[in-house]
Amino acid sequence: MTKYKALIGLEMHCEISETKTKVFSGAKNGYSSKSNEFIHPLDMAFPGTLPVVNKEAVRKALMVSIILNCKQPEYLYFERKNYYYPDLPKGYQITQETKPAPIGVNGVFTYDCHDEEKSVRINNIHLEEDSASLDHFSKMSLIDYNRSGMPLLELVTEPDFRSSEEAVAFLETMRAIYQYAGISEADSKKGQIRCDVNVSIMEEGLDETDPANWGTKVEMKNVNSFGSVKETIDYEISRQIALKESGKYDEMEQQTRRWDDEAKETKYMRGKVDAIDYKYFIEPNIPKFKITKEWLEEIKASIPPLQKERRDKYVSEYGLKPYDAKVLVKDRSVSDYFERVVQTGVKPSEAVNWITTILLGAINKLEIGIDEFFITSSMLAELLQMVEEGKISKNQAKNALYEAVEKEKNPIDIVKEQGVSQIQDESSLKEMVDKLLLEHPKEVDDYLNKGLTNVVNFFLGQVMKQTQGKANPAKTMQILKEELDKRKTN
Ligand code: ADP
Ligand code: MG
Repeated sequence: MTKYKALIGLEMHCEISETKTKVFSGAKNGYSSKSNEFIHPLDMAFPGTLPVVNKEAVRKALMVSIILNCKQPEYLYFERKNYYYPDLPKGYQITQETKPAPIGVNGVFTYDCHDEEKSVRINNIHLEEDSASLDHFSKMSLIDYNRSGMPLLELVTEPDFRSSEEAVAFLETMRAIYQYAGISEADSKKGQIRCDVNVSIMEEGLDETDPANWGTKVEMKNVNSFGSVKETIDYEISRQIALKESGKYDEMEQQTRRWDDEAKETKYMRGKVDAIDYKYFIEPNIPKFKITKEWLEEIKASIPPLQKERRDKYVSEYGLKPYDAKVLVKDRSVSDYFERVVQTGVKPSEAVNWITTILLGAINKLEIGIDEFFITSSMLAELLQMVEEGKISKNQAKNALYEAVEKEKNPIDIVKEQGVSQIQDESSLKEMVDKLLLEHPKEVDDYLNKGLTNVVNFFLGQVMKQTQGKANPAKTMQILKEELDKRKTN
């Protein structure tokens, strides 16, 4: 049997969510549960409206271009991509084609896939406007213009991925870059990330640098989660190999398919002959704009520490295990949560345990982000401080936290409600110990004269019984020994 290898290229769209306004209008760039709330006449293509470029969106786009080691253009241009669809009121999208020059071209970027360094060529990255969104009902469809004009970055890679694992590892790395660089929440559940996945296969052993050896490209449009990207690629590779094996591959045309998440298969949408000619031309309402070297330098200098740098810091400065550090930085909001807990003085090695063993499991189950979680970083910090100060035991904190997760409550309230707060007050513990020693002269004698050290445990048991388990065991032990030893010297 012939061996094949897969060629996979990605087109990743990510909304820039971290600008105040949209890319060409002054409407707020934000999410609302109310339709048509953040809109400006331009977003609905009212006659007479003109686009004004949002410099902050361009700045953020250039930052991604720099991070991906792309070449930035000397002048900023936009182009019109002409087509009609009800979610596109102007009848064209303002975007950038590769000519004259988009925000970035010809980048080479390295990322980790299962701890192995991989490299991918970036064909280009460009800035464009998002379309409105459509809600379909049985007898009508409604248009919501909130999304219309949101800044959108489209990143196009060369077909350099060889497996679904590599493609997904790259997407995860990009998502982290968008988050850590403060460009986007990059949340696929909010529809902020959308991918088109291109797959072909070729025979192993042929020269892959020569496009003549590449197979026929099949494009899957709008695959919306990384899980689906993986399934789509795996399915498509097997489907194409099966066509090869049955001798039908050569009849297969270049085509666009979609991933059917219920049937778990890709479905034919259209062939190449149905491809639209978008009649691109330079957007005449936006003057070309000089991108100076000074501006690029300034943007470069303002790139904040990204995922890798935080991970390295957690290992070298905080002494975390590399695996734990990797888990923490996977999502920026989790890493920020961890840092907020550590800033209150909690030991990093403690904070990481509680977050990775209890909290991440809980939020995964609830399918929410850690920022939406009812147990805030300050609640966890307070709880862990109580442990560090010896006010409650680790076990008590753990139980309170599990119960807090289950009942959606503040763990501190649970600690208080249950009165599990340990009796800390040294004088009341001392008083209790004094009384016990007086009441049990035989046991005191056993300890002092016969050297029966396990007598201490007997007294500890008595203290626990009297306090219903609320005494701090370590502290009680210490007082017991002190009091018994006092009697030795007397
Ligand atoms: P189009 O002109 O149809 O938009 P492009 O050549 O611009 O196609 O490529 C679009 C995407 O398809 C890119 O991500 C590219 O890497 C990928 N691609 C191109 N050819 C192949 C192929 N033979 N197999 C897999 N992916 C491919
Ligand atoms: Mg495109």
